[in-house]
Amino acid sequence: MSLPCIIIGASHAAVQLSFNLRQQGWQHDIIIIGNESHMPYQKPPLSKSIMSQQKSLEEILLKKDEFYQDANIRLMLNTNVTEIDRSTKTIKLANGEVLAYSKLALCTGAIANKISLSDKPLLGVHYLRTAEDAAKIQNQLTHAKNAVIIGGGFIGLELAAAFNQRGVHVTILEAQENILQRVVTSEVAQFISSLHQQHGVEIKNCCIAKRLTGDSYVSAVVCESGESIPADLIIIGIGITPVTTLATKANLDVDNGILINQFAVTSDPNIVAAGDCCSYFHSIYQRNVRVESIQNALDQAKSAAASIMGKEIDFSHNIPRFWSDQYDIKLQMCGLIDGYDNVEVINPQDYGQLSVLYRKDNKLIAAVIINNPLMMKQAISAIANQEAFIH
Ligand SMILES: Cc1cc2nc3c(=O)[nH]c(=O)nc-3n(C[C@H](O)[C@H](O)[C@H](O)COP(=O)(O)OP(=O)(O)OC[C@H]3O[C@@H](n4cnc5c(N)ncnc54)[C@H](O)[C@@H]3O)c2cc1C
Repeated sequence: MSLPCIIIGASHAAVQLSFNLRQQGWQHDIIIIGNESHMPYQKPPLSKSIMSQQKSLEEILLKKDEFYQDANIRLMLNTNVTEIDRSTKTIKLANGEVLAYSKLALCTGAIANKISLSDKPLLGVHYLRTAEDAAKIQNQLTHAKNAVIIGGGFIGLELAAAFNQRGVHVTILEAQENILQRVVTSEVAQFISSLHQQHGVEIKNCCIAKRLTGDSYVSAVVCESGESIPADLIIIGIGITPVTTLATKANLDVDNGILINQFAVTSDPNIVAAGDCCSYFHSIYQRNVRVESIQNALDQAKSAAASIMGKEIDFSHNIPRFWSDQYDIKLQMCGLIDGYDNVEVINPQDYGQLSVLYRKDNKLIAAVIINNPLMMKQAISAIANQEAFIH
C-alpha cells in the first residue's frame, strides 16, 4: 500500500503545498493535520478587514470544503500532532493514534510571544495569531472604550487603526525609541507615527508596560515610569516564535526555525518544511533568515511540493516581501534592511506617499514604499538584479 504525504499544520503554507502536490501529479493520499478548529484561512485579514468588520471568517477561508474534496485532500482539524518518529516514518496524534507517512511536511507556523503582567489571569487581555483570538477581540470591541496596545509592531499598528475607526480610543506603548524599530528605520516610523497621531491614536515610545491592574477585568496598565493608563482592552503584540517543538524532538536541525535548504528540504530528505516555522540561507543576503510573510510561505510551499515530486525549485534567492494596511495607506516592504550604507528618502513631506530606498555598495538591498505599487515592483526587480535603482 502506498503511504500518504502528511502535512502538519493547516496553514497557508500547507494549503499551497497540498494543491501544488496534486497539480504536479502526486497520486497518493494527502492529509493535512491542524490543531485549530477552523478550515484553513488567511491570517493577514485578522488584523485588517476582519477587525474593521469588512469581512467575515467565511470570506477569508483559503478554499471552500469542496475544493479539498475534489482534490482528494483530507483535512483533520482539531488534531494535535505530538511526535514524529523518523526511524519508523510515523507520527503520533494527541489521542495516541499513529499514522505512517512516505513524505512529511512541517507547516507549523509560529505562536505569539507571551508576557505575564499580572498575578492572576485578567479578562480583556488578548494576543492575536488565530481566528479564535480575533473572535475574542471582536466580542470585546463591542463595549470597549480604551484600548492599550503593548508593542508598536505591524500587528499592533493595524489593530490600532481598526480600533480607532471603530471609535475606540487607542494608546500604543512601545518599549523602544520608535515604533517598528525591529523592522524599519526612523523615516518610516515617523511617517506611520504621524498617521496614527493624526487619527487621534496616542503613541508612547520608550514606555515599558510593567503590570496590569483590575479585579476580574483589566482596568489599567501601569508603566515602569509609574504612569497608569486606563484600559478595558489590552492587546499584547510583541512578536512571534516559530513552532519547532516537533522538529527539535525529532532531532531535525533547528536554528531560529526549522532549517531548510534552498529546495525547502529539512535535514531529513523525507521531510520538507515551509512558512513562518522555517529558517534558511538566503542566497542574495548571504546569511540565515526567517521570514514571516505570506509570500515566503507560498514560495517555500511550492519548492517543498516540487522536492517531494523529485524536482528542484530554488526559492532561496526570492526577495522577502511584506505589506501592511493601516487607514487608507498600503505599506509595502521588500528585501532586508540591514547592512545598508546609503538611505534615500523620496517624498518625505508628502503624507500620501513615501519611499525609502536602502543601498549597499551602490546596489539596492531593501525598500519601504507607501502607496506606490509600481515603484515596489521596480524595487523588487532592482534587488533581484543587484542594481542601484535610480528612478
Ligand atoms: C494578524 C496577522 C496579520 C498578518 N499580516 C500579514 C501581512 O499583512 N502580510 C504578510 O505577508 N503576512 C502577514 N502575516 C503573517 C502571515 O499570515 C504568515 O506569514 C503566513 O500565514 C504563514 O503562516 P504559516 O503558513 O507558516 O503558518 P501559520 O499560519 O502560523 O499556521 C500554522 C498552523 O499550524 C498549527 N500547528 C502547529 N503545531 C501543530 C501541531 N503539532 N499539530 C497540529 N497543528 C499544529 C497551528 O496551530 C497553526 O494553525 C500576518 C499574521 C497575522 C497573525
